[in-house]
Amino acid sequence: MSQTTEQVIADGQKYVMNTYGRLPIVIDRGEGCYVWDLDGKHYLDLVAGIAVNSLGHAHPAVVRAIQEQSEKLLHCSNLYWIENQVKLAKLLVEKSGLGKAFFCNSGAEANEAAIKLARKWGKGEKYHIITLKNSFHGRTLGSLAATAQEKYQKPFMPLPEGFSAVPLGDLDALEQAIRPETCAVMLEPIQGESGIHVPTQEYMQGVQAICRKHGILLILDEVQTGLGRTGKSFCFQNFDLEPDIVSLAKAIANGVPMGAIVAKTEVADCFQPGDHASTFGGTPIATAAGFAACSILLDDDFLAGVRETGEYFRAQLRELGEKHPGMIKEVRGMGLMIGCELAGSSKAAAAELLKQGVLINSIGEHVLRLVPPLVISKAEIDEFIPQLEAALTK
Ligand SMILES: *Cc1c(COP(=O)(O)O)cnc(C)c1O
Repeated sequence: MSQTTEQVIADGQKYVMNTYGRLPIVIDRGEGCYVWDLDGKHYLDLVAGIAVNSLGHAHPAVVRAIQEQSEKLLHCSNLYWIENQVKLAKLLVEKSGLGKAFFCNSGAEANEAAIKLARKWGKGEKYHIITLKNSFHGRTLGSLAATAQEKYQKPFMPLPEGFSAVPLGDLDALEQAIRPETCAVMLEPIQGESGIHVPTQEYMQGVQAICRKHGILLILDEVQTGLGRTGKSFCFQNFDLEPDIVSLAKAIANGVPMGAIVAKTEVADCFQPGDHASTFGGTPIATAAGFAACSILLDDDFLAGVRETGEYFRAQLRELGEKHPGMIKEVRGMGLMIGCELAGSSKAAAAELLKQGVLINSIGEHVLRLVPPLVISKAEIDEFIPQLEAALTK
């Protein structure tokens, strides 16, 4: 017998650490773009585990890969070669134009790996990394040091040294922050957690030019933007960039925990046995799911569909904004990574939408983050728009 929602929440409050402001539902199962709670109510899922379930829930190709691999081998250690891991590495390398991959278990871990690889490349002389204000790179001490947001850093001081942050959009500030010991610039191609902030093409090209001029690495945190989310395999392809290291996680295995970095071969080869490792990194079961998911996510026709659906979604949101002047301040984003800035409270809007059967993420005071499964249909978008309208006019 499963428990009631009330029992789960009461026990959760008693036994689980209070690290999330959780909404009062228990999600029990999912299919495609919908999830069902313990009470049987269904919701259109525009959160997708925060840009994780890009193929939707219970995608047959991922389910099959997990089922088949779980009967063969879950885990064996990276002391041995793992076929699925090699296949996934080859796919990521071919689609990114980079050289070699390393696997871990989360976005923060991927960024830790990127930071360590850049420092190893710097041979102990270059270790300083420049990041952007309002960035988000994770919660471990290293990735938190790169996350230039006081509210996240302050309670955990002192953080590892060797990081400084400059404002997004200011190339002069970036160049002035470079010191003899600087090894890299690290940034999100679209800032996700701080509100879906899309930089200009000129800025991103400028960042790369400054890195080249000073002989330092360009690290892109594509944990959220990567793997089809923005309508390209990697968001850097929208900006015609050639980064040195890219970090990935969220969507990579459609919900099975996994992170990765992919780097140019000459940088990647700075890692030698003993430098970095992870017991669970690239385990047979995770990479089975990852290879199945990425084989679809990185397919050209699939990506064309994401671009089309993303444009449609943003157009519908803008149209709603025009119908009710002053209600929606801005719709921004790329592909299906969409920020909808409201005049009023995004938290109140998200709470109202939850009642109507829609999961949507509110960030900050005014921004709704829409990161639905990439398989969302126009019909599902058409169903949502009047629900949003009702929530916002209430
Ligand atoms: C989610 C996220 C992370 C952290 O990933 P975890 O798996 O939660 O550690 C890092 N960078 C970006 C850009 C993210 O969106």
